Amino acid sequence: ILDSGQNKNITLDDIFISVKTTKHYQNTRLPILLKTWFQLAKEQTWFFTDIDNQLLQNQTNGHMVNTKCSASHQRKHLCCKMSVEYDRFLESGKKWFCHFDDDNYVNIPRLVSVLQTYNHHEDWYLGRTSVYEPVKIYKKPTSKLLFSFWFATGGAGFCISRSLALKMLPVASGGRFISICEGIRLPDDVSMGFIIEHLMKKNLTRVSEFHSHLEQMKLLMPETFRDQISFSYSKSKNGWNVINVPGFDARYDPTRFLSLHCYLFPHFKFCPR
Ligand code: UDP
Ligand code: MN
Repeated sequence: ILDSGQNKNITLDDIFISVKTTKHYQNTRLPILLKTWFQLAKEQTWFFTDIDNQLLQNQTNGHMVNTKCSASHQRKHLCCKMSVEYDRFLESGKKWFCHFDDDNYVNIPRLVSVLQTYNHHEDWYLGRTSVYEPVKIYKKPTSKLLFSFWFATGGAGFCISRSLALKMLPVASGGRFISICEGIRLPDDVSMGFIIEHLMKKNLTRVSEFHSHLEQMKLLMPETFRDQISFSYSKSKNGWNVINVPGFDARYDPTRFLSLHCYLFPHFKFCPR
């Protein structure tokens, strides 16, 4: 009975949800999150940004963290944010660290129920791969394959158990994560995979309920929305890559996240009755 391999006693309060954001998106992406899924996890969710904003600070009850990382899409600065997210998780004492981007919708009840099926005392790295091959590191100039590893794409979200996060502490805590990124010259999510798969020798567990906009969002069927952990959207010259969900007009809700929220939680205050 004790060793069922499950942890039904995990609740939302055991999860540290971190969202990477930036001043560039504080008036576009962030309000959508604050209006929808953040309302279901206000105490557990923290936003890691690069500016002070009193209005957002009030709206989130002080859950905006100014990382003091510079506001750019360069590897170094994105790694800087991930480093602060990880350090804050360690300080929080929570059982799970779940990272998302600010173009993710997080289905909070499903995140909790999926994590209940894993034991946080064990080492878990849960997420979705973005590529069909592992990252391969070659030795110069001979091009001999040194090693390869998988990583969970940050844009779909991923979760790390406390047990695993603590094992990473000597190499990744206190800003050391940034040095690793710089050392291997790879983005933050790839560096996370490098640390966990290559240095810690723990494998990524693929969890297909995480989704990024690298997938075609319209292929997700509404009947399965309740089972998914995360969703995303993107806009390109060819138009929007968004889920196909009934609801608000596309002009009012181009990302479809407001409609998705009402699809999942029809009794929410802003949803039509
Ligand atoms: N981001 C950031 N600083 C920037 C640009 C982006 O912190 O200068 C964050 C953004 O808020 C998001 C993530 O990085 O959480 C990915 O950004 P985006 O979706 O724009 O790009 P993608 O990598 O998905 O193409
Ligand atoms: Mn994105």
